[in-house]
Amino acid sequence: MENVIEIQNVKKSYRKKGAKEKVEAVKGVSLTVKKGEIVGLLGPNGAGKTTLIKMMCGLLIPNEGTILINGINIRQKRLQAMEHISVVLEGNRNLYWRLTVKENLEYFAGNRGHSKKQIQEKMEHLIDRFNLREKENEMVNALSRGMQQKVAVAVALIANTDVIFLDEPTLGLDLETSYEIRTLLKEIVEEEQKTIIISTHDMPVVQEVCERVVIVNHGNIVADDRVENLLQLFESKAYLFTL
Ligand code: ATP
Repeated sequence: MENVIEIQNVKKSYRKKGAKEKVEAVKGVSLTVKKGEIVGLLGPNGAGKTTLIKMMCGLLIPNEGTILINGINIRQKRLQAMEHISVVLEGNRNLYWRLTVKENLEYFAGNRGHSKKQIQEKMEHLIDRFNLREKENEMVNALSRGMQQKVAVAVALIANTDVIFLDEPTLGLDLETSYEIRTLLKEIVEEEQKTIIISTHDMPVVQEVCERVVIVNHGNIVADDRVENLLQLFESKAYLFTL
């Protein structure tokens, strides 16, 4: 299987305002993800997950190292690489708040080789599947957080990219909405061969959606295995102590 994401010795540090020392958020991470893999990115708060995701999707430039998306070096050909990527960041900053649900979907569908009819069909399908019919003409800023989250995931899907990054997609959602998002992700994973990277603290997401888990701590990868091999560790919560 081909590698969709290849990152080699990637490092990123931040300088906090007024602080002398730099924060080394990502300390030299290498990772390969194959087409169709669903990878859970786990680790405690501040481990470096969001920084890693932002670098992989071109929103942050690493201090060192290389990142290839479908073989394209994101540093050298950022826009070209970003065409292969959708990203749902915490707080749904990928959405246009003053556009309606439908307008957001239409906008992100773009024109990636699809006809107007195909886009329309996919949009209708996603609106039904995400239970957004009643809200389709409402502005995103008027929706609940759970609804916004569903729109953000739907937008990532309609963009029809090979790679989707989801940063804590179920954070702060009630049990039902969280279940709904998990179910939708599972169905999509079964239907379409997308490569998905999900940063999460939500164990049901890990167990039900992810195939492989990468655990990050203090800016390094400390475990990388199939989810079933790490399940015992999760159940005993022992992984918290191995970090
Ligand atoms: P969480 O699970 O809480 O979202 P995370 O694993 O996503 O955490 P990051 O947000 O990548 O972790 O943060 C890694 C480290 O980098 C932390 O120490 C954080 O304080 C620091 N950091 C992140 N963004 C910035 C920034 N813009 N400026 C300065 N320091 C930052």
